[in-house]
Amino acid sequence: MEQRLKAIIIGSGVAGLATAVFLAKNGYQIEIFEKNSAAGGRCGKIEREGHRFDLGATILLMPSIYRNVFSAMGLDLDMELEPVTLNPLYKLYFGDGSSFNYSRSEEKMKSQLEGIEPGSWKAYNKYVNEGYGFFNMAMNQLLNKNFYHLFQFINFKSLVMLFKLKVWIKHTDYVKRFFHDERLQKAFTFQNIYVGQNPYKQPAFFSMLPGAEIFEGALYPKGGMNKIVERFLKLAEHLDVKIHFDQEVEKIIVKGKNVSGILLKSGTEKYADIVIANADLPYVYKNLLPKSKKIKILNRKEYSCSAICFHWAVDKVYPQLEQHTIFLNEPYKEGMEMIFNQKSLSENPSFYVHSPVRNDKSSAPENNDSISVIVPVGHIDDKKDQDWEQLKKRARKAVVARLIEAGLDDIEEHIKFEMCITPENFENYCNITHGSVFGSLSHTIFQMGYFRPHNRHAKYKNLYFAGGSTQPGNGVPLVLLSAKLTSERIIKENS
Ligand SMILES: Cc1cc2nc3c(=O)[nH]c(=O)nc-3n(C[C@H](O)[C@H](O)[C@H](O)COP(=O)(O)OP(=O)(O)OC[C@H]3O[C@@H](n4cnc5c(N)ncnc54)[C@H](O)[C@@H]3O)c2cc1C
Repeated sequence: MEQRLKAIIIGSGVAGLATAVFLAKNGYQIEIFEKNSAAGGRCGKIEREGHRFDLGATILLMPSIYRNVFSAMGLDLDMELEPVTLNPLYKLYFGDGSSFNYSRSEEKMKSQLEGIEPGSWKAYNKYVNEGYGFFNMAMNQLLNKNFYHLFQFINFKSLVMLFKLKVWIKHTDYVKRFFHDERLQKAFTFQNIYVGQNPYKQPAFFSMLPGAEIFEGALYPKGGMNKIVERFLKLAEHLDVKIHFDQEVEKIIVKGKNVSGILLKSGTEKYADIVIANADLPYVYKNLLPKSKKIKILNRKEYSCSAICFHWAVDKVYPQLEQHTIFLNEPYKEGMEMIFNQKSLSENPSFYVHSPVRNDKSSAPENNDSISVIVPVGHIDDKKDQDWEQLKKRARKAVVARLIEAGLDDIEEHIKFEMCITPENFENYCNITHGSVFGSLSHTIFQMGYFRPHNRHAKYKNLYFAGGSTQPGNGVPLVLLSAKLTSERIIKENS
């Protein structure tokens, strides 16, 4: 009888679980070791007194990628998650107090756009069409493929692609070709923050984010984003994947040009034919592997921003909020500089609010809501003087003041309990380098495609990576793709 190959996965984030499912379906014997007592990592959940909060991811964007990965697993996204289609996708509040419902309804979008800037409806159509074109091109040539050698990337076709993707124009300059009104310029570029980067610094092709939002929409799985984790867990267990919680991996055991297993913090060694690290890649190089030159290289890379999150159980439902509400506050550009250059937070930062009860009654007791506020902030940087207690207070003060201004005047009186999660908490909970939760590695053009750390170790040929800091990138859709690509590579190289 043919012997089944054994693989160990370090971490049970979305990418770790999805890799487990793919490999188990292909006959691999899988064991997962997770440092925390629950699965999901940055796609986890917090439950308390009838309130449920998504720990990290809250919005299901680019559903085509989910459908593709789910169907490769033999799952039907719509049947498994019963997602709600959001319309509007979200509400934007600008610094001048005006608001904009970011909607897929042509009629609503047209009347709002033309009300702000005559002629902008036509420009908007051109902008999102081009953006979705960038998305499809990036998917085909940059994101949805395994890079086995350099010449797959350095060739004439890639140069043409980079040209077409307008990599030399900044997103915030590019958008000016379409809209004169500064509010619209912000409304169609702020999405860079989804991947933890500064819209003023990144290239035009990130208009693929608003493009994909409008063409594919945004979904919300009933029960929150953690439903994805629950579904994968169930499938993994059905496929006989063994998951060990509260088992932190201390080292990956290396033997010449291979790895032979892992050493747990408890002192136990576990052996396998293949090891897959779902834990953050730079953390793995620095902490789980022998010292190497790669650490210096990784230290020099760009990391995404981080976030301060507040989770509030409130005994009221506020009509001023949609399920997703974004406050773009002034001075906006300086706010970005504070995050990305000073690694800090401005006095009046922009932020995002999640209030799921409108579409999901199970997220809070009746007439209550489970509000999460995410305030993007600089990542942890030893060279900067960062006082997280102080920054947390600054963030909370600014958020409450802005919410009051938007009409939530009694918000403070209605908070039954609150929890706050800082970059340091994220760093400790998930071992995310610098607490850079939207990466950790940023998605600059030189950290994407072939240039992003590869999903197999260059020296240890049976050590693979799946997750946000390897190819193709971070965010639930991309880490799902990462799991699929890494599994395909493992199967190709080990059959
Ligand atoms: C505040 C916030 C908001 C977000 N919003 C969205 C959103 O709306 N939509 C979206 O698509 N994405 C969003 N994201 C990003 C998304 O959550 C992540 O891209 C995704 O969950 C990352 O999954 P992963 O499997 O790569 O890594 P992780 O979730 O980081 O999983 C890695 C796992 O490895 C474990 N681990 C680490 N070290 C060890 C060790 N030594 N031993 C054992 N286990 C270990 C960790 O505990 C963790 O469980 C958000 C993230 C945050 C933080």
